[in-house]
Amino acid sequence: MSVTGTRLQPTIFERGRDGRGGGKIPHPPKDALDRIPASARRTTSPALPEMNEPDVVRHYVNLSQLNYAVDTGFYPLGSCTMKFNPKLNEWAARLPGFANLHPLAPDATAQGTLQMLFELETALAEISGMRAVTLQPAAGAQGELTGILMVRAYHRSRGDTARDQVLVPDSSHGTNPATASMAGYTTVTIPSAADGGVDLDAFRAALGPRTAAVMITNPSTLGLFEARIGELLDAVHAAGALAYMDGANLNAILGRFKPGEAGFDVMHFNVHKTFSTPHGGGGPGAGPVGVRETLLPFLPEPRVLREPDGTYRLERTGERPTSIGRMRSFAGNTGVLVRAYAYIRAHGGSGLREVSDDAVLAANYLKSRLAGTYDIPHDRACKHEFVASAATLKKQTGVRTLDIAKRLIDYGYHPPTIYFPLIVEEGMLIEPTETESVETLDAFADALIAIAAEAETTPDLVTGAPHTAPVRRLDEATAARHPNLRWRAMRGAETPCPD
Ligand SMILES: *Cc1c(COP(=O)(O)O)cnc(C)c1O
Repeated sequence: MSVTGTRLQPTIFERGRDGRGGGKIPHPPKDALDRIPASARRTTSPALPEMNEPDVVRHYVNLSQLNYAVDTGFYPLGSCTMKFNPKLNEWAARLPGFANLHPLAPDATAQGTLQMLFELETALAEISGMRAVTLQPAAGAQGELTGILMVRAYHRSRGDTARDQVLVPDSSHGTNPATASMAGYTTVTIPSAADGGVDLDAFRAALGPRTAAVMITNPSTLGLFEARIGELLDAVHAAGALAYMDGANLNAILGRFKPGEAGFDVMHFNVHKTFSTPHGGGGPGAGPVGVRETLLPFLPEPRVLREPDGTYRLERTGERPTSIGRMRSFAGNTGVLVRAYAYIRAHGGSGLREVSDDAVLAANYLKSRLAGTYDIPHDRACKHEFVASAATLKKQTGVRTLDIAKRLIDYGYHPPTIYFPLIVEEGMLIEPTETESVETLDAFADALIAIAAEAETTPDLVTGAPHTAPVRRLDEATAARHPNLRWRAMRGAETPCPD
């Protein structure tokens, strides 16, 4: 175990002892074995570790303590909106009427869930200024694909088949160009202006009869509001193209800016970011998509419909032939949607606006605390996140952003997003969210300032970090490309972590 510290214990397979067992089946019928057809019976025992129950429980609880989570510490991961998730939402999502509903239940027995979905769609439409919303997509990335497939269907429906390009700024999230190419478009990358905003002239030059859509993140992934968004949207529409808004940063603009009213034709929400749901470990999310009138016919099926008598039902397959079809099984990730619904209802309109105002205040506070120590490449008021850079520090000391991120782990913090967006050298994208106290923000700023001082005096301390984590630095390329995730019995000279 060359890369592990003392906090990592042997795996449960290594700790198991034959015959120790644990679970007991109460009163098994005497002919239990005979009831299983001989062909389906195993001849050897499964290769599972055997342990007593307390040791199993301790093993897994101790492993869970190695996790860093928003429930254990500050999590300033930019672009991800790692806010604290109110526990009330967990209660709501676990209500038996939601949690135990069979996904194929007939509409008549699913009225409560259908009503919740309908009302959530209505609330998201109101928040975004869009005409209608689909809750189907399972994540922001799938929402993007849903939106761009609707754009494609729109152009095709008008016989406009020459449009084969999607324009994205160079600060965009990787899912934007990935979405464009999955939908069959060529991505055209537009460089940002010097102030970090969209370069209007460059967009104008690229717009034309081949442009199907532009994808804009607003506020951008630099945490900056696109001040010239109105001019840009006018130019997009004059060229006959549609405007897609990546709504991952909606946490900054709730109650302040409605993309639909500003002229965006389609956008996705990352409800697991903006409207709370524990995320970050790859768990389920939801990426609803809002559209303006023009894209209404193309929404995925089935939509949730409200009948004149006040009951709800799901659209029947083929009922709306213009639909792009299904994007996902059933009605969406309902548990995540219940949490979003609970969050929106608990805050109300003025509460949501406060969420954004506080998120913006926290980000600007943290930015001003770090301004004397790190580079702030775009030094104007930010929205809910900002980019700091260690470029100068690196020149002076050799310490890189990656080293600072690793050293933050020793200080007890989850590092911010690093090296994204790609256009900032040695960048750190920091998003504190609205749920952190000023004491937490100060302690985090103090840690980053202390690390900058260490870079001057004891750079090895920083470049060798983390020193306190159970796992030290991994070879990042190998860890990503050849992850060693499956345990198997090792023999002879084999070691569990081959170099
Ligand atoms: C998170 C994010 C996405 C992708 O959303 P997922 O829900 O993770 O699929 C897209 N764009 C931006 C700017 C994001 O931050």
